[in-house]
Amino acid sequence: MSIFLPPSTIGILGGGQLGRMLTLEARRRGYRVVIFTDEPPGCPAGQLADVEINAAYDDAEALGRFLAQVDVVTAEFENIPDACLQAVEAVKLLRPGRKAIFTTQHREREKLFLRESGIACAEFRIVETLAQLEKAVAELGRPCVIKTAAFGYDGKGQAKVNADTDLATAWQPFEGHHAVVEQWVPFVCEVSVVGARSVDGRMATFGVVENQHAHHILDVTFAPAQVDPAIIEQALTLWEAVAEGLGYVGTMAVEMFVTAEGRVLVNEIAPRPHNSGHYTIDACVTNQFQQQLRAICGLSLGDPTQHSPAVMVNLLGDVWSAPEVHPDWSPILNHPRAKLHLYGKASARPKRKMGHYTVLGETLEEAQASVTQIRASF
Ligand code: AMP
Repeated sequence: MSIFLPPSTIGILGGGQLGRMLTLEARRRGYRVVIFTDEPPGCPAGQLADVEINAAYDDAEALGRFLAQVDVVTAEFENIPDACLQAVEAVKLLRPGRKAIFTTQHREREKLFLRESGIACAEFRIVETLAQLEKAVAELGRPCVIKTAAFGYDGKGQAKVNADTDLATAWQPFEGHHAVVEQWVPFVCEVSVVGARSVDGRMATFGVVENQHAHHILDVTFAPAQVDPAIIEQALTLWEAVAEGLGYVGTMAVEMFVTAEGRVLVNEIAPRPHNSGHYTIDACVTNQFQQQLRAICGLSLGDPTQHSPAVMVNLLGDVWSAPEVHPDWSPILNHPRAKLHLYGKASARPKRKMGHYTVLGETLEEAQASVTQIRASF
């Protein structure tokens, strides 16, 4: 039997805010939660879980203790060593499975999966040497972008190749590693689709949302995206193709570029709930963490319908005046349609995701106007 009902125990690999929000959903419904993290004790998810295990992902004894306590395992971030994923899958159900996490944790594998599955994405080449980079840039044209194959996120490990970029200099940080060179996409906007796929292969997507980034980190999500129906259809179809191709179980996000010609290209896959899906907590019948819980427990998915237009704003450590000095939250807390979410991180630093808030409106414009008003006070 692969259906887990309360009070079964959910094991979560990773202890960040995504694990915290899943833990909240799970505990609300009477599940137990055990967190396995390589972060120090008191991590965002560990604060709310029944048990927190703090150890390296290659610590076999600690992993054994974790596995002995849990009924089903999921991951709240993808950069987990493959040996750990294999060890988990050898004894417990891991949802999503190793294949989905292994493929999407590495840009080269992810890109090759997209190409092999015929899923639209920016043209790319895999390179290992300067000579290969020179060939790739000659073929793809400038501008293009070099991205590290392993463990890159939020624009880390990326270098843009412009008309005047010296390739030997640009290659230096990537020397000795695999990299993906990607054609530059002059996108008109960036969108994402978050959705869930159940054990029996049913899928429920939230709508298409528009994401605005600042310094490569998500800044604001507008839900729903104000784009043509043809764009929405392409985006949802791409999400479904990725979920089917990976045999996915759980909540997954796909980030995409929308071009001026009306094409939608996959940029990145996240095998977990996603920052651009946080608005679902306050604006949808079933949120992305509830869907994750339902899917990994082998249950039917909930209704993803969005009941209010919403704008979600990230709160990075940059708005803290000192690492332990919180801003005055009253403009958000006093607003009748704003919802503040803080992740319990003890210390702020620039660019660190500390929390977010979502503002609901009768219309997206109204929600946006409220955000403008709130933002003026930060
Ligand atoms: P990534 O870490 O791949 O999601 O990239 C971070 C951000 O860099 C994206 O959200 C885009 O704003 C930008 N970016 C990445 N790749 C490209 C590309 N091929 N063309 C244009 N912009 C890109």
